[in-house]
Amino acid sequence: MSAVCLPRTCRLLRQVPRGLPAAMRRHFSLDVAAPLLRTQGFVNGRWVSAASVFPVLDPATGQEIARVADFGPAEAKQAVDAAHEAFQSWKHVTAKERSVVLRKWFDLLMLHRDDLASIITFECGKPIRESLGEISYSASFLEWFSEEARRIYGDIVPPPARDRKILLLKQPIGVASIITPWNFPSAMITRKVGAALAAGCTVVVKPAEDTPLSALALAELAAQAGVPAGVFNVVPCSRDQTPSVGRVLCTDPLVAKISFTGSTNTGKVLLKMAADTVKKASMELGGHAPFIVFDSADVDRAVGGAMASKFRNSGQTCVCSNRFLVQSGIYERFLEKLGRAMDSELRVGHGSEPHTTQGPLINAGAAEKVVQQISDAVSRGAKVLKGGKRLDGSFMEPTLLADVTADMLCTKEETFGPLVPVIRFDTEEEAVAVANASSVGLAGYFYSQDVGQIWRVVEALEVGIVGVNEGLLSTPEATFGGVKQSGLGREGSKYGIDEYLEVKYMCFGGLDP
Ligand code: NAP
Repeated sequence: MSAVCLPRTCRLLRQVPRGLPAAMRRHFSLDVAAPLLRTQGFVNGRWVSAASVFPVLDPATGQEIARVADFGPAEAKQAVDAAHEAFQSWKHVTAKERSVVLRKWFDLLMLHRDDLASIITFECGKPIRESLGEISYSASFLEWFSEEARRIYGDIVPPPARDRKILLLKQPIGVASIITPWNFPSAMITRKVGAALAAGCTVVVKPAEDTPLSALALAELAAQAGVPAGVFNVVPCSRDQTPSVGRVLCTDPLVAKISFTGSTNTGKVLLKMAADTVKKASMELGGHAPFIVFDSADVDRAVGGAMASKFRNSGQTCVCSNRFLVQSGIYERFLEKLGRAMDSELRVGHGSEPHTTQGPLINAGAAEKVVQQISDAVSRGAKVLKGGKRLDGSFMEPTLLADVTADMLCTKEETFGPLVPVIRFDTEEEAVAVANASSVGLAGYFYSQDVGQIWRVVEALEVGIVGVNEGLLSTPEATFGGVKQSGLGREGSKYGIDEYLEVKYMCFGGLDP
């Protein structure tokens, strides 16, 4: 690992939590190494201020933890210009050299894992254990793409005539605009940027308003790793500035590619903007994952998978199980065991507390959405077996609902909260039909020990990612991406880099036969 000298620790604003249940009230503060707490934007290798700032809040307490430069369209344009200028040289840097820089960046993330994880916990609310996991996951994309950089092979194809050769060359596409959400403030950036930089592209990153600090800490470490000026730029902005900054990033003719992770609605807005200049686009959008438990399943394993796939980040991941379908013969047993696991394993609290497993939701509106789904389900006949209530601030009780039916709101839309709605079914055909009755298809999970059924259901599910007897799937070696309105393209794996490459056909003719 590269050794980096860090100045003394910097403590950001002491906070008195207001949103927590009374029993949990105490002081929380974000203590991280000073150079990682950046509050200016990062353009062309320099830290840049803006005319105004916007606050970053701890969602657990509602307290301000930092004020960050609020970039507008002019600064976004400067970043695009810088990225375009830097592309002219970065594309000629050898794959081996790009690989070395990415590997150094990976080492630095791992070296500063604790501080980077604290930043995530304080700006997005995630329990510290999960934030540490996110940093390892985030770093793993830099490591993976540092290796993939050296394997961007083209093809030599047998020609149809003897006087020519056919070559297919892969080349970097150019400047990529990267727009990311708050729920994985570090990993959603490196999953894209690792591939982009490995391919020889340069980037402008617009992080979510809620979580700019993780993106800016990545910029600090990119600079320390030797990423050249202009290759990695970060344009933080408030939600007020987002549409105008987004317009620059999606319409500027110097931008060749947009890569977005976020909601399906925003994805459609960005695609429409990018259409005028026909940019290549990757879209990682919303999910509505089915989690099916067949009679033949190992129930304990299914309960473990349900806990892992539902409650990570308090239910705020795009691959979170959103609809639980359980076959009649195993229904009561599954509910009973899942209820017990929820009682014994889940602890609501501030993410920095070591025993917390359930932090706050990102804001009060997100908690209100879960409450509405619960009331709608109850009004239509669902039974609350656990939880059901909103706590102070944006905290939510982990909730288990039985007797859920396919006409309830919670089975029609993404929840993004700690709600387990359980639907009873009788046949495999019925389960697959309910699972596929959605306009999106990102992840899906099922538990079965019947090999014939496993293959049938894998092939029948309309999703981009399927977990068979497994609830945690994400890894840089495999593809990540959805079908239907869950998106376009794939991230991670050997395919992720293709999103940042063009294939050029070279016909080398005039050769003597
Ligand atoms: P979001 O509201 O769509 O926001 C995502 C990003 O888009 C944020 O940076 C946001 O900026 C920005 N944005 C919004 N409007 C924009 C515009 N007009 N121009 C440019 N940028 C714009 O989504 P979210 O609520 O943060 O994230 C949750 C959603 O993301 C869920 O649906 C989840 O399933 C999905 N998600 C998908 C994946 C995946 O890999 N498929 C992974 C994680 C999350 P502001 O913050 O300033 O609004």
